[in-house]
Amino acid sequence: MQSRRDIGIYLHIPFCRQRCHFCAFYLEVAGTDRSMDRLDAFHLALAQEIELHRRQDSIGSRPLQSIYFGGGTPTALPATRLALLLELVRTAWPIQASAEITVEAHPSTVTPADLKVLADAGFSRISFGAESMNEQDFAPIGRPGRVQDTETAVEAARAAGFVNISLDLMYGLPGQSLESWTHTVRALLLLRPSHISCYALTIESGTKLSRNMALNLVPRIDEALQVAMESAAESLLSEAGFIRYEISNYAKPGFACRHNLLYWTDGDYLGLGPSAQSYVNGVRFGNVADLTAYVDMLAEHRLPVTERTDLSDLEQQQDALIFGLRLLLGVPLNRVPNPEQHSKIHTLIEQGLLESTTDRIRLTPLGRRYADTVAGKLF
Ligand code: SF4
Repeated sequence: MQSRRDIGIYLHIPFCRQRCHFCAFYLEVAGTDRSMDRLDAFHLALAQEIELHRRQDSIGSRPLQSIYFGGGTPTALPATRLALLLELVRTAWPIQASAEITVEAHPSTVTPADLKVLADAGFSRISFGAESMNEQDFAPIGRPGRVQDTETAVEAARAAGFVNISLDLMYGLPGQSLESWTHTVRALLLLRPSHISCYALTIESGTKLSRNMALNLVPRIDEALQVAMESAAESLLSEAGFIRYEISNYAKPGFACRHNLLYWTDGDYLGLGPSAQSYVNGVRFGNVADLTAYVDMLAEHRLPVTERTDLSDLEQQQDALIFGLRLLLGVPLNRVPNPEQHSKIHTLIEQGLLESTTDRIRLTPLGRRYADTVAGKLF
């Protein structure tokens, strides 16, 4: 029987013009002559992956509620190529008339003409990685570009027809003060986005930032300052009419990201491209995180899946609870799998990490800071 869960598609575009110092995503640095061969190989392999999933009927005929081009930097590819890739997906599967179709973009990688191509191709939402509106924050994290690029790109996106514009910020950056952060939030609001994501900087092992920190070349993260920054953002954004609907995400009414909501509301998603993760009909699977291996496997007409876990009903319920708790609304109490969890929830409520209403449980402000720890204590 076909699942009644909502479903979306995620496409991982594994290219960036350079690697930011904090970034641990799988990607290749594009920009050389050789890169064009890699882009062509990736494009062909992705077309093959879509065709294999379609032939194997991996997701049935449920119309897609969202398509999300992420990365990497999707706009490291020419806009015309992104339009072609979107067309491939559209040809393979039915799409809801109101589907949300997002493309992530780096502000300095798009021209007004690119944005027009993307809007005309049917992308309905664009998400820019602004990171900060203070240029001195860029150097310690190796983020290329200028603040002016963000302002220009947002204006050009609006002129191209994008109404749903999201901007990503990071806080707790090396050397960033509370005043500098509130300036960033205020400056971002002047650009009138419909959605804002605020991510606390975390240090991933193996990144240049973690090495620089170990060498004391950049200051370490001040966790108390990050907490103050989170509170300041929440106040400023709520005064500006944004609703915080997930730990890191704020939206004007009606502009919560439908694709990302799939992750937090037990929806299904099929991930395409190297390193992309999927969750379909109770099965989690992940693609190989290597473009060469990805291309080779698809050239042999094999799906590039390297990990696969069939979840039991109980495991699916547990995952739904863990991911659902990231939502400010929390999860319905009747989704809590068994009495053992009820007793653990009771303990977490006593510790001030969870709170309950008549029919839901959710993280407290303190619990939101330790969401992963809370999830770990539930199972
Ligand atoms: S632009 Fe984004 S994906 Fe690319 S290196 Fe920077 S953080 Fe990573």
